[in-house]
Amino acid sequence: MGNKKGRVFSGARPTGRQHLGNYLGAIRNYVALQDEYDCIYCVVDLHALTTLSDTDKLHEWTYEMALDWLAAGIDPEQGTLVFIQSHVPQVVELHLLLSMVTPLGWLTRLPTFKEKVRQQPENVNYGLVGYPVLMASDITLYKADTVPVGVDQAPHLEITREIVRRFNRIFGEVLVEPQAKHTEFTKVLGIDGEQKMSKSLNNHIEIASAPDEIKRRVMEMMTDPARQYRSDPGHPEVCNVFTLHGFFSPGEVAQIGTDCRAADIGCVQCKQRLAENLAAYFAPFRERRAELAADPDYVWDVLAEGARRASEIAAVTIAEVKAAIGLP
Ligand code: ADP
Repeated sequence: MGNKKGRVFSGARPTGRQHLGNYLGAIRNYVALQDEYDCIYCVVDLHALTTLSDTDKLHEWTYEMALDWLAAGIDPEQGTLVFIQSHVPQVVELHLLLSMVTPLGWLTRLPTFKEKVRQQPENVNYGLVGYPVLMASDITLYKADTVPVGVDQAPHLEITREIVRRFNRIFGEVLVEPQAKHTEFTKVLGIDGEQKMSKSLNNHIEIASAPDEIKRRVMEMMTDPARQYRSDPGHPEVCNVFTLHGFFSPGEVAQIGTDCRAADIGCVQCKQRLAENLAAYFAPFRERRAELAADPDYVWDVLAEGARRASEIAAVTIAEVKAAIGLP
């Protein structure tokens, strides 16, 4: 790793083909951060086990997600590490060691934990409670000093920092306390125009979709509910289609807003323009994705090499941690 501002770690559960929410909320930041930081991007498959759903999809979804990342410009050639969490088993060891310095109350009071308890009351497992400890292990194992967080992830990073401080107070300055790098959090709504875009809600648009599929999904999008007839003036400020024009139609978004308010453009035409612009925006991405996918081993080779290099960092940290604790 080179001489950059610091080391970034971020992980995402393997969710398969990425959607516009993943792209605007995470991937484009991941790509941009590579210029200034040494970056470590991890497919956190062990985290995915906390809900124990779709485990038969983990292999395929890991591949598809990593392929999207690489095609979008996450670039191992720039030194970025991309790998699968479970391929560096020291993270599990560190998880156990850090669990010994983590008071249970820190974990059970987290809003995200309470939310999960509401969502899956029949499966409030030990791993679920320890999720933030595993996250702390991911970050500290690789000595990352910078973690990009949206507002939703901020409390988890705070726990990581508390665990690090506590560990270092008890055993000496071994772990690096990471700083949050607050990323502008863009919550992208799904095609329903109400809920966060998410694969599990099936309200998403995949960035790897072919133009006709993008069009099919965009034409299903909800628009301004107050606009019932073509002649009604629209309210772009409450329309999710318009919001997406803001990201993907930079040259014409102002005109679209004016035309919508004046009822000079209808919702159908507005969506057609969005579909065209989305298809054009992601055309180089689709091309690169197809090139990379032509070699079925490519993604797995990148992930294996990433794990090899990540293991080198992990081995050093684990040795330091065990020595500090005094394990014989
Ligand atoms: P994870 O549990 O790893 O966060 P997700 O697939 O929910 O898995 O999200 C992966 C990344 O994409 C996260 O950084 C998340 O904030 C971002 N993301 C997912 N959906 C959206 C969305 N609708 N709007 C903005 N960002 C999103």
